[in-house]
Amino acid sequence: MSNYKPGLDYAKEQDQNDALSHYRSQFHIPKDNQGNNWLYFTGNSLGLQPKSTQKYIQQELDDWANLGVEGHFEAKNPWMPYHEFLTDSMAKIVGAKPIEVVTMNTLTTNLHLLMVSFYQPTKTKYKIVIESDAFPSDRYAVQTQLEFHGFDANEGLIEWKPRQGEELLNLDDLETILEEQGDEIALLLIGGVNYYTGQYLDLKKIAELGHAKNCMVGIDLAHGAGNIKPELHDSGVDFAAWCTYKYLNSGPGSLGGLFVHEKHAHNKKLKRFAGWWSHNKATRFNMRQPLDVIPGAEGWQLSNPPILSMAAIKASLDMFNEVGMDALREKSEKLTGYFEFLLNELNNDKVKIITPSNPKERGCQLSIQVRDADKSLHKKLTKAHIITDWREPDVIRCAPVPLYNSFEDVYRMVDKLKQILNT
Ligand SMILES: *Cc1c(COP(=O)(O)O)cnc(C)c1O
Repeated sequence: MSNYKPGLDYAKEQDQNDALSHYRSQFHIPKDNQGNNWLYFTGNSLGLQPKSTQKYIQQELDDWANLGVEGHFEAKNPWMPYHEFLTDSMAKIVGAKPIEVVTMNTLTTNLHLLMVSFYQPTKTKYKIVIESDAFPSDRYAVQTQLEFHGFDANEGLIEWKPRQGEELLNLDDLETILEEQGDEIALLLIGGVNYYTGQYLDLKKIAELGHAKNCMVGIDLAHGAGNIKPELHDSGVDFAAWCTYKYLNSGPGSLGGLFVHEKHAHNKKLKRFAGWWSHNKATRFNMRQPLDVIPGAEGWQLSNPPILSMAAIKASLDMFNEVGMDALREKSEKLTGYFEFLLNELNNDKVKIITPSNPKERGCQLSIQVRDADKSLHKKLTKAHIITDWREPDVIRCAPVPLYNSFEDVYRMVDKLKQILNT
């Protein structure tokens, strides 16, 4: 899309013509002391609060106040099956079948539970591949799984690295790793959208490469869910996990999502850690039954879930369901493309976008490397109420979120960046 134009008027015109622009008013946007909206670009870290969230949570508080334990069945949205109210919308967001998805626990917990099932090392086939720039929690999870199974955490970990002098990952290099060491590798655990570079990897290709060497393939979608369309079912990956407080706007520390591919749905031999919520709903309350695992993703649940957190997720998913990922992606590509255009217009050789420029290889985030910059740049932006995310040594991560960021937000952000860089 090369028909972008510089100037504030163009940005305002794009907002006027944007069919999704009214969603912005459905969010609480933090304001400065003068009542001006912050320019909020950290939906990749904590999404803003939909105004409807309060109502959804209040409903459950009221039902709890009025019904006590009877709320499990008598609440307006009965708590017993409450998680099921989220499943269809969540499945659509990640491109999965309902049987493949459940909302439960938090991301790192879910990664561990999934590895209990899908990381089944032997003496000779035990290594795990991650990206060299994996999110620390994922790295710690994988290292402690290796140790738990009696392996050396460093020896057993294979890092898929960008080439010398490059920032992005190349699938050819993953292929080489698998050709050379595939017989020793049990699992690939890869960030579908890398948190640092914003690179969106070809999940289907990763699954094919891994499966060709009999490895299990898991995807961390923390930066993908609600951002890109990962088409998890068609990709063929074995499992995935994500959180709902980033692009899914469900509040700090809110519950995570979990995907187990349909091909594993009825495999009762898979090892797992279970609890009463893993057990057949029809006989769960008989209390004296031997474990009878629910087929599909629900069979990985352990506990009865926190309804107040789920209410916030429902508020958000209802909005996603209404918009649809297709429309959201369409706007997102345009908005991020505009952001890229303005950054390139700066014509500043210190500013380099490390995120891929192909819209199919990224979500909404751009990671901007500013040569010779230090954290004072980020401080100046923050002081101007432009909320971005700083990664040492010199990268600003910035995510224009299509549900609530405007073209004008993007214009003003780059305009301020220009001022700061020129002083
Ligand atoms: C945000 C994020 C996490 C955070 O994990 P929690 O268990 O939700 O605290 C983990 N991994 C990745 C890749 C993330 O982006």
